[in-house]
Amino acid sequence: MVDFNFTEEQELLRSTVRQFAEKEIAPKISEMLQKKRIPDSIINGMRKLNLFGMTVPEEFGGMGADAVTTGIAVEEISRADPTVSLPVMFLVHNAWSYLISKYAKPELKAEILPKIARGEILTGIASTEPNFGSDIGSMTTTAIRHGDKFILNGEKSFISLVRDIKENGGGYVTVAKTDPKKGTAGVTLFYVPYDPDKIEITPLEEMGREGSSWGALRFKDYPLSEKYIIGELNGGFKLIHEGFEFARALIAVISAATAMTCINNGVEYMKSRKAFGQPIGKNQGLQFQLAEDVAKMEAATTLGYKALWMYDEEQKNGKFSRFEVSKEIAIAKLLSTTWAFDAINDALQWHGAYGYTKNNPQELALRGVRSFQLAEGSREIMKLIIARETLGRDFMKS
Ligand SMILES: Cc1cc2nc3c(=O)[nH]c(=O)nc-3n(C[C@H](O)[C@H](O)[C@H](O)COP(=O)(O)OP(=O)(O)OC[C@H]3O[C@@H](n4cnc5c(N)ncnc54)[C@H](O)[C@@H]3O)c2cc1C
Repeated sequence: MVDFNFTEEQELLRSTVRQFAEKEIAPKISEMLQKKRIPDSIINGMRKLNLFGMTVPEEFGGMGADAVTTGIAVEEISRADPTVSLPVMFLVHNAWSYLISKYAKPELKAEILPKIARGEILTGIASTEPNFGSDIGSMTTTAIRHGDKFILNGEKSFISLVRDIKENGGGYVTVAKTDPKKGTAGVTLFYVPYDPDKIEITPLEEMGREGSSWGALRFKDYPLSEKYIIGELNGGFKLIHEGFEFARALIAVISAATAMTCINNGVEYMKSRKAFGQPIGKNQGLQFQLAEDVAKMEAATTLGYKALWMYDEEQKNGKFSRFEVSKEIAIAKLLSTTWAFDAINDALQWHGAYGYTKNNPQELALRGVRSFQLAEGSREIMKLIIARETLGRDFMKS
């Protein structure tokens, strides 16, 4: 059976978030650009709608939503914020809070999940290091046991939300080696609360995502009790991919929604802008480009939701294997982020020189969406996953 319908509750959520996005997010983008941060009024509005608690179970005050429903909310948010700053905050926080909800120890869940759901604390992901990104197994950050504590030391780089977590409060799902001799079998996930005495932050300037923040984290002899282990000791390598995959599938939906907004802007412009005595939209050359971009974005959205649905089916019913889900999600992220970037570039071109002016939606979106060909797994890593699952592991480079 194939059913492309969303449920009544999902449609209701879509229209609620759409109204919020149109009224509270879209009009505040210029304020975001000016202040280079997400306005507090937007964060407060998201708190009221429980959008920081989407993946947190209801017993802790969250919405307990599945991945598809989470995708619906972020699709609507993405339509209103071409910089993708808010979609990034939403996706990182909700995808990685899901992992905490699923695998953290009961005492940690009771302590932090209600705050996460209320948006009092934000969740980030600290995996990449200055010398290793794609190759997670080569990380050098360690959390070595001393008595009843694990002492965390090392540096993580290119981490999203560093200023937001510093100012708002929160912590990072952090990957570290607890048994360095064992390679990927000696990797553990921790929840590491932000603590200014134990984490040094170095902000980084980035190409886009004006309202977001980015930077490096240095952990300095940070003692963590067992309570902060997510999942099993030395079981982190497998778990981290569950977080990445949720985030990747959300990125597929975000990229397509952002590009669709730019295409719609382009359509309006094509109807009104005249050249050689007629609206530029009457040129079949532009119509064909438009048609291809619309077709690709519809396919990308469908692939994104299929990826989220498979993730839900695997998580809830064990219907698909981890690897089947990885492959579909890699396909969705690879195609959506590539096609969306190209479609946004087309929409920028249709606007002529206006397209090249600073801070017009297409220019903002181009710089923002470009990040998704790297963040949460690069496009080359998506291709490696697809090839591995298609050819078989024997064909992977050893
Ligand atoms: C905007 C942004 C936000 C980010 N936010 C976070 C965050 O919040 N938390 C976090 O932990 N990380 C974050 N990252 C880091 C991101 O996850 C990494 O950039 C990504 O995983 C790639 O790692 P790398 O940059 O170290 O590149 P490398 O792994 O060093 O790779 C360099 C290049 O070589 C390619 N490559 C590597 N191996 C292969 C191979 N076997 N075959 C073919 N090509 C290969 C890569 O695709 C890439 O193009 C963010 C990055 C960006 C750009």
